[in-house]
Amino acid sequence: MKKVTEIFDQKPRTFSFEFFPPKTPKGLERLYQTAEALAGKADFFNVTYGAGGSSSKATFEIVVELQKRFNLPVVHHFTCIKHKYDEIRQRLEQFKQADIKNILALRGDPPADDPDYVQGPDEPHYAYELIRMIREHGDFFAIGVPGFPEGHPNTPTKELDSKYLKVKQDAGADFVITQLFFDNNIYYEFRDRVRKVGVTLRLIPGILIITDYPKLIDFCKTCSATIPDFIKERFEPVADNPEETRKRGIDWAIQQCQDLLDNGCPGLHFYCLNKTEPVTTVYNALDKD
Ligand SMILES: Cc1cc2nc3c(=O)[nH]c(=O)nc-3n(C[C@H](O)[C@H](O)[C@H](O)COP(=O)(O)OP(=O)(O)OC[C@H]3O[C@@H](n4cnc5c(N)ncnc54)[C@H](O)[C@@H]3O)c2cc1C
Repeated sequence: MKKVTEIFDQKPRTFSFEFFPPKTPKGLERLYQTAEALAGKADFFNVTYGAGGSSSKATFEIVVELQKRFNLPVVHHFTCIKHKYDEIRQRLEQFKQADIKNILALRGDPPADDPDYVQGPDEPHYAYELIRMIREHGDFFAIGVPGFPEGHPNTPTKELDSKYLKVKQDAGADFVITQLFFDNNIYYEFRDRVRKVGVTLRLIPGILIITDYPKLIDFCKTCSATIPDFIKERFEPVADNPEETRKRGIDWAIQQCQDLLDNGCPGLHFYCLNKTEPVTTVYNALDKD
């Protein structure tokens, strides 16, 4: 299986789609149907990892199955919180044996049922330690990391956040996928800020298409992403009208994505929520040349 970095070497822009492990067999079936519909458009897929490792088996199995069915690289998200060093070493060996060569390395958040969890001495405290462990395998793995255009919610300043990203680059990270944002200026400012401290990594914007405004408000609270006024003005009046929300969500996403592509972004990463639509409509509407 290819590493995504090999694709980056050949393509200035990539298009990728992120799945989460569903809770039911029906949800899993839908995930594979969606993957089939998107495979012709995707350079790679991602599969998330439940907080604290709660979905570790499911994530692994889905990554293996997607790679087998579609012969596309799949980035396995891997959070190190609540994982001891020994377990991480074992998991990396398991990934190698399964031909999983792409990892999104995160510390992760404490699980909801243990929000005050503090790591012990036999566990990594920060994502850069996990990256170093992955790099003990040389260049076998391509390593992605999350990027926070508005700064990580628990980092005191954006400048410090940029420096922590540089630490991850120095530890061996290869690329960044960002948290969602709606105001592209937030991404452009992030790009300028991290470049100033020497981060040269590919910064792939993470895109969420708005289809459910009340849910979006809740989600943005948990990840501290700003909902700009122009989004509120567009979506608040139709919050209880799913059809109109979806239409406006598609229109906005097309504008947002086209602006990013026209301004030098190295592709787009869609949080597709395991659904074929509306991501296919948005993708098809973009001028990608
Ligand atoms: C694209 C993307 C994908 C995601 N996928 C998942 C997923 O699959 N599963 C999941 O559970 N969560 C996922 N998340 C959420 C993510 O786990 C949380 O946002 C988490 O808090 C991120 O931790 P991190 O990897 O940035 O950790 P770190 O970089 O370790 O940062 C965690 C905290 O430590 C501090 N810190 C970092 N480096 C240093 C340092 N060198 N010295 C001192 N302090 C430092 C930071 O200020 C921050 O507050 C994803 C987020 C994004 C943007």
